[in-house]
Amino acid sequence: MDVTTTCPCSGTPHPDGDTVTLRDKPTLMMGTTALGWAGQQATDSKPTSGEISEMFLRLGILSWTYLEDDGTPKPVTDETLDWLLDDYELAYPVAEKAAELYTEVIFAPLLKQISNSSRTGRTNASTSANSRRSRSRPSPSEPSSITSSEAS
Ligand SMILES: [Zn+2]
Repeated sequence: MDVTTTCPCSGTPHPDGDTVTLRDKPTLMMGTTALGWAGQQATDSKPTSGEISEMFLRLGILSWTYLEDDGTPKPVTDETLDWLLDDYELAYPVAEKAAELYTEVIFAPLLKQISNSSRTGRTNASTSANSRRSRSRPSPSEPSSITSSEAS
């Protein structure tokens, strides 16, 4: 999936913008990392959505058309990814597209799990409440009738 950004290259050789190519689907590593962070959201070490989009870009970018200052193609490395992520204006459209491509796919198994477990929980609660109420109803009336006959 190609995303167009403004051209940050020296001398602006790409007036129509540069192209960043994202993988079309998340990798297993991207999915399990995001799911692991989501599982920690109840605790204090809650990840920010910024960390998730940074991870999506680091693992999701396959190639781009950016050039080094000397005009040679800029390779995609940890260092040049830092350079991209340091520039909000440049990185934001790519992050937005990455979230669109990956978030729904990654969280689909988690959402399925949540809807399954809430359905079983509701059934168990209503069954036990009914049986407790019907069993306790007859007992209070008996002792009170004995007490009233003794008093008269
Ligand atoms: Zn350029």
